[in-house]
Amino acid sequence: MARLRRPVVLAGWLAALGLAWGLAGAFVQDVLEGVDRTSLGAHRLAVPLLALAAVAVALAVRRRRPVCTACGAAGRGRLWSPVPERAAAGPSRRAVLRGLGAFGAAAVTGLGAVYARIRGWRPVARDFFFTDVEYTSPTYRPPAEPARIRAMRRLGRTNAMVSDISLGSGRISRVHGPDVARAALDRGLNYFDTAPDYSGTESEEVLGEAIQGRKREDLFLATKFCVADGHLPNDTPVPQIVAAVEASLKRLKTDYVDLVHIHSCDRLERLMAPNVHEAFDRLKESGKARFLGVSTHTPRLEEIADAAIDSGRFDVLMLAYHFGMWPRFGHVLEKAKRKDVGVVAMKTLKGAKHTDLAGFRDERSTYAQAAFRWVLSNPNVSCLVVSFWEPAQVDQYLAASGTALRPEDVAILEKYDRLVRGDYCQPHCGVCLPACPEALPIHDVLRGRMYAKDYGWPEEGERLYAALEKDASACLACPAPCAGTCPHGVPIRSAMLDAHATLRRA
Ligand code: SF4
Ligand code: SF4
Repeated sequence: MARLRRPVVLAGWLAALGLAWGLAGAFVQDVLEGVDRTSLGAHRLAVPLLALAAVAVALAVRRRRPVCTACGAAGRGRLWSPVPERAAAGPSRRAVLRGLGAFGAAAVTGLGAVYARIRGWRPVARDFFFTDVEYTSPTYRPPAEPARIRAMRRLGRTNAMVSDISLGSGRISRVHGPDVARAALDRGLNYFDTAPDYSGTESEEVLGEAIQGRKREDLFLATKFCVADGHLPNDTPVPQIVAAVEASLKRLKTDYVDLVHIHSCDRLERLMAPNVHEAFDRLKESGKARFLGVSTHTPRLEEIADAAIDSGRFDVLMLAYHFGMWPRFGHVLEKAKRKDVGVVAMKTLKGAKHTDLAGFRDERSTYAQAAFRWVLSNPNVSCLVVSFWEPAQVDQYLAASGTALRPEDVAILEKYDRLVRGDYCQPHCGVCLPACPEALPIHDVLRGRMYAKDYGWPEEGERLYAALEKDASACLACPAPCAGTCPHGVPIRSAMLDAHATLRRA
């Protein structure tokens, strides 16, 4: 019997450790990622704890042997043996020690399994669990010396080493653009993200001007499959798609781009559109493009990212990723890491409302750095892209490069969350969409509003709104079954009406 019990206990122990690794480890990781606590699922802690307790009990409890009270000799009989048992008087000291040892071993190995699961998050865990959070934050002081890129990270299978903070150019213009891009280059930034429809081709032209005289192999240039007016339809002939990228090369004044993304992808048909893939293969063969990527920030982000990784076609994913990301997202990043697909984070400022928030004055200028540190604390993120368009942003943004997440950063981010609750629609969320009988793209309408109101960029908001298949006019006469469906407290109908009033073109 004892011979049979040992393998059973061993198997139980291994199963309990597997549960601790897979369930409790993932639970702790989600806590560190800032996932909404109501969706964490306490069973992920309870199940491994119960399993570890069960094997500890199995180890500690041994069948009591009958002992002769007269001579003290241990017998081999069963518990119902007529021989009186010493055990009946209570557990021996040895049995107590054995029990404590079993529970101690269960606790240590269980914690070891959880640690193994989250070991890449060690610095975050240290700040998160072992430091007193100071709920006041320092006022940002411009650095005494110009801020520089202090960390380069590997961009997945591209093998490129890219600056952890990289230059997005959606708003860049001729006014400050070339100087901003050159200053960033001088400070060590080497990854530039652009697209033909950013600032009506001005973005590519400005970057093309800024990189003149620089060694091309020191730069990593990413653009998108589109034209100045926006996306190319899926059935666009291959030569036309190739020509669109060649036009980007001309504006960028270069012979090749390192990365071409399928831009703002929200459907699997777009992700795997045969013409786009054939165009990329041709561009790659001719040396005009090196790697393929996809950018996405829609409610179908997880599905798109999953399919992109599984297809084996994509070298890089550019994904919305910010503090308090929705459940299970961290697992997409882990999967990308396992398949050696580079991950570029975008939308890291979570609506960038910090400049206008009343009650956020002291934290305002450090918010971006806190948000960047949080994103970069995920070891599965290769780099983040943020929009630069003003000279002051170079110092402010690069100051976060290569620095660890601090307790006061978490405090700033939590305060931001409290202040924007009810006023920020997460474009990748989509929880409310099934409630709308008009099938309105609520997240896209409110994204346009965000550009106009929060980013102070009404032209872009209007452009996005005008490109939508449906506008928000249906909300005018609607009884609003969407009311109360937003877990982030957005009053959907009034926000939609506000968007319609703000963005519609005369
Ligand atoms: S309004 Fe709320 S529920 Fe709807 S997409 Fe935005 S954040 Fe999600
Ligand atoms: S108010 Fe607008 S968004 Fe809400 S259900 Fe009606 S049409 Fe849809």
